[in-house]
Amino acid sequence: MSVKGLLIVVSGPSGAGKGTVMKGILERDPNIRLSISATTRRPRETEQDGVHYFFKTREEFLALVDKKGFLEYAQVYDQYYGTPRAFVEEQLDAGRDVLLEIDVQGGMNVKKAFPEAVTVFLAPPSMTELERRIRFADTGTRDNIETRLEWARQEIAQIPRYGYCIVNDDINGSVEALAAIIRAEKLACWRR
Ligand code: 5GP
Repeated sequence: MSVKGLLIVVSGPSGAGKGTVMKGILERDPNIRLSISATTRRPRETEQDGVHYFFKTREEFLALVDKKGFLEYAQVYDQYYGTPRAFVEEQLDAGRDVLLEIDVQGGMNVKKAFPEAVTVFLAPPSMTELERRIRFADTGTRDNIETRLEWARQEIAQIPRYGYCIVNDDINGSVEALAAIIRAEKLACWRR
């Protein structure tokens, strides 16, 4: 029997440091592929289409939903975000591990469709630190900051639904922890 790749879901609030930890794990492990999501939100200054996201209009996104083009999709902060299905399935079938950096709604939907997926929540060291990071990173309005903080509180309340939780108070330590989780999960006898 051929061994399929591991599907790894990483969730956590904006400001928890998901992007940096993802970068670290991808540099460390060449077998892991990052799924690039589609979104209807506008690109930020440093973002490129096809690299950070596939940027879509609402119409394009909803047409893909109709065609069952997403493994999961969710509405986050009034915008749509979705995981393109074909890429993930192809990589897993080819035995490569796939990392999804998605919100909690998406994470729980993936868990329903793929019970064997490994779910990891990346938590900030404290709410005070999270608030500091969100305020520092935000270029939008006060509303945007408050929305992100409220969203963060709701996501943090969902930690018990995740298989693992890493408290990200040190990037290298968090990358190390994620690598250890992936290593251990790949060795689990029931996957073979
Ligand atoms: P941002 O706009 O800051 O890039 O992302 C906002 C939120 O959307 C983050 O929590 C991120 O993990 C989540 N997200 C990104 N891509 C996807 C996706 O494909 N599906 C779901 N459900 N959430 C996503």
